[in-house]
Amino acid sequence: MTEKEGDCSRALIVPRAEHTISRRQIDENTLKVLYRLRRSGYLACLVGGGVRDLLLGRVPKDFDVATDATPEQIKALFRNCFLVGRRFRLAHIRFAGNYVVEVATFRRQPRPEELPGDSDEHFFFTENVFGSPREDAFRRDFTINGLFYNIDDFSIIDYVGGIQDLKDRRLRVIGDPLVRFTEDPVRMLRALEFSARLGFRLDDSIREAIYLRAPLIAEAAAARIREELMELFRHRVAAPVLRDAQSLGLLPYLLGGFEGEAETFDLLEQVDGRCSEGFPVEEPLTLAALFLARFRRGLHTQAVESVGEALRLANQLLVPHCGYFRISSAVRHQARELLVGFFRLSRGRGRRGEKRFLQHPFAASALELFRLWSEASGLERELVAAWQEVITSRGTAPEKPPRPPRRRSRRPRGRKSPPGKN
Ligand code: ATP
Ligand code: MG
Repeated sequence: MTEKEGDCSRALIVPRAEHTISRRQIDENTLKVLYRLRRSGYLACLVGGGVRDLLLGRVPKDFDVATDATPEQIKALFRNCFLVGRRFRLAHIRFAGNYVVEVATFRRQPRPEELPGDSDEHFFFTENVFGSPREDAFRRDFTINGLFYNIDDFSIIDYVGGIQDLKDRRLRVIGDPLVRFTEDPVRMLRALEFSARLGFRLDDSIREAIYLRAPLIAEAAAARIREELMELFRHRVAAPVLRDAQSLGLLPYLLGGFEGEAETFDLLEQVDGRCSEGFPVEEPLTLAALFLARFRRGLHTQAVESVGEALRLANQLLVPHCGYFRISSAVRHQARELLVGFFRLSRGRGRRGEKRFLQHPFAASALELFRLWSEASGLERELVAAWQEVITSRGTAPEKPPRPPRRRSRRPRGRKSPPGKN
């Protein structure tokens, strides 16, 4: 065993013959990157969700590579390599067809005494302390996300007990959940997300820690929460995750003012189902679905009769939320049109302005929301059918598009990366 690999001694190594990951399952550009790093004398591993998903027999969303080469050393090896991120430096290796392989240098959590006082520098420092593979495994969030596939001998390196947890179908935090959730409260939401996506049992220690640390999530960066929320819809688990968030006391801190009524969860289940049928996840629809129960309640309590009043009510609900999450006015505008469209549709046919409304580009999407709500509540089925008839005959019904190309990574390009991402 070489010096470099010395710290594998404390890891469980699963040799190629004893696991199911084959190179045929790994995308060829990622393999090229792994091989070249290895040939140049560096350690090169597949890490994170890719390893987890392959071991579970699922198709990974993307493959991430980690190495002991520094960003500059990586850049020197690949002509098509660009270093990105000011705070969290990563190498992006570009291939034909806009395909990017993301390579990170192994990192570790800095010790408290190493941290500079200045909070901005603090962040910079936290994100960029290079470390050993073992340290890199321990800074990750869940044991099942901390496994490495080593291209040198095709073995799996498990420092954190992830293999056993995959077998037991159990989600466990690496380290003490109270500490790890305090460090980064978004991990609480990720815990619920992975448990729902994979059908894994949440470790009891996670439940307890979420219960105790829930208020901290209100202080997490809004952009990250927004991104993780969209991730729930993309993975069709918005309903179960937000239900869990409600029962563990996380929901009020996650979405201020959100009461988590049964009506909303039933509607979100329909939205999740729609996404499973191959419809893309549109943020305006997710927003309208999140706010529909409150909007309907407002229509009732404020005895709303005109479209103008409905518009004001929708704005009242959406403007603070979109401001907080920095959601663009275009998205907010579309969400508002969906809610107002819902109001128009729910009033029934034959109202003034119907003809103009039917020409409105959002009419079909509003009907989609109305239909999902009707499915969820069992109400107004006939009215849905009546509207469907006019709107489809005008050829404006939403068509199921071909599946969009997979996004390489959930991380918004060119923006600050969350701590600990890989
Ligand atoms: P998927 O991409 O399928 O949603 P993933 O596990 O790859 O799942 P990513 O968000 O792509 O999740 O992150 C990649 C890896 O980075 C994770 O597997 C985990 O090891 C690490 N990671 C991500 N976010 C955090 C975090 N907040 N704290 C610690 N480690 C994290
Ligand atoms: Mg990933």
